[in-house]
Amino acid sequence: MQNRNIVILGSTGSIGTQTLDVVRRDEKLKVIGLTAHSNIVLLETQILEFMPQVVCVVQEDKAVELQNRLKALKIQTEVVSGEKGLLTVATLQQAELVITAVVGMVGLLPTIEAIKNGKNIALANKETLVTAGEIVMQLARENHASIIPVDSEHSAIFQCLQGNDRSSVSKLILTASGGPFRDYSYERLQQITVEDALKHPNWVMGHKITIDSATLMNKGLEVIEAKHLFDISLSQIEVIVHKESIIHSMVEYQDGSTIAQLGYPDMRHPISYAIYYPKRIDTPYIEKLNLSRVKTLSFEEPRVDLFPCLQLAYEALEIGGTMPAVLNAANEVVVESFLNRQVSFMEIPKIIHKVMQKHICIDRPTLNDILECDKWAREYSRRKVEKC
Ligand code: NDP
Ligand code: MG
Repeated sequence: MQNRNIVILGSTGSIGTQTLDVVRRDEKLKVIGLTAHSNIVLLETQILEFMPQVVCVVQEDKAVELQNRLKALKIQTEVVSGEKGLLTVATLQQAELVITAVVGMVGLLPTIEAIKNGKNIALANKETLVTAGEIVMQLARENHASIIPVDSEHSAIFQCLQGNDRSSVSKLILTASGGPFRDYSYERLQQITVEDALKHPNWVMGHKITIDSATLMNKGLEVIEAKHLFDISLSQIEVIVHKESIIHSMVEYQDGSTIAQLGYPDMRHPISYAIYYPKRIDTPYIEKLNLSRVKTLSFEEPRVDLFPCLQLAYEALEIGGTMPAVLNAANEVVVESFLNRQVSFMEIPKIIHKVMQKHICIDRPTLNDILECDKWAREYSRRKVEKC
């Protein structure tokens, strides 16, 4: 393989650091751009190891601080800042692959610009497709940019589709761990603290997605992501709770065969698959599955009565237009408020529902419509949070 230049947006996060762990084992992968929001301590360590051409620190004062530190160390890496800086890194001329691992809708515009510049995308940032899936997928087709999923369920489905005729797919089956409160009663759910919600049983991830996993909104966002990535109708997407997180998702075909992708939960697998696709490389650092040790694989229906976020996501997708962007924006605001202890766990779906009810949906939205509705939904959600 020839050298490949890659950029990682959100390199200081959970996916970002695991991506760098894959990258550091292959000298042919050259990191030319990295970004962080404010964690310049970790970003500096990454700069010293990978020597990228450019980094972006979104928070301006932190960018200046990092610039001064690099100057003192006589490091040549250029530092850019703000959300504009994210666009600079996402569109670096020599970049061949952009890994989008920032959290939240902030990933949308850099991903769009990267696609417009013909970059291939390894997509972890699911909010990009949730908010503007049609626009992003259309742009990717027009610019011949491939979007390879990093989200483990979508990577699994993508792998299960390889070599098969898309028109013979009858169903996509997304597995869900069910989160830490899978077996809780309504009464117990009222008592949940931030600390409880941050303890995911199978995965170590960033705070936002960990809370989304506990509310099942993560699965809802993934249903929307799957619809756009695989161009399939909502009625052909099923969610099943599989608490062991060994089967990462499945594809059912018309001939009655169901193909699944299995492995221990380790995001370095979907990350390396996305980087090297269509090749599979040897990854001795990823533990191989031992089914006799796993023993049992269990499955059950999701409890939408207790975890209404999944249902809200289905509704948003069914309504379409700007509604999924509004669902996403409300969720980002309310989850942050939950992490700041301003709202309770059970208030999360209630507030999102209120914001969706208030929204006047725009069909066939432009990017600008989506950005405007995102802004409105954030403001309205904040007002609702203040009333709690
Ligand atoms: P983390 O919170 O761990 O990391 C987020 C990254 O984005 C950090 O580099 C952070 O910088 C940066 N960031 C945060 N806010 C902003 C902002 N406003 N502008 C620009 N950059 C920002 O998140 P994860 O790695 O867990 O998740 C990243 C994405 O991948 C999410 O969309 C998530 O849904 C998806 N995903 C994650 C999985 C996982 O296992 N973690 C699995 C599947 C999908 P800083 O460190 O400076 O704050
Ligand atoms: Mg996932």
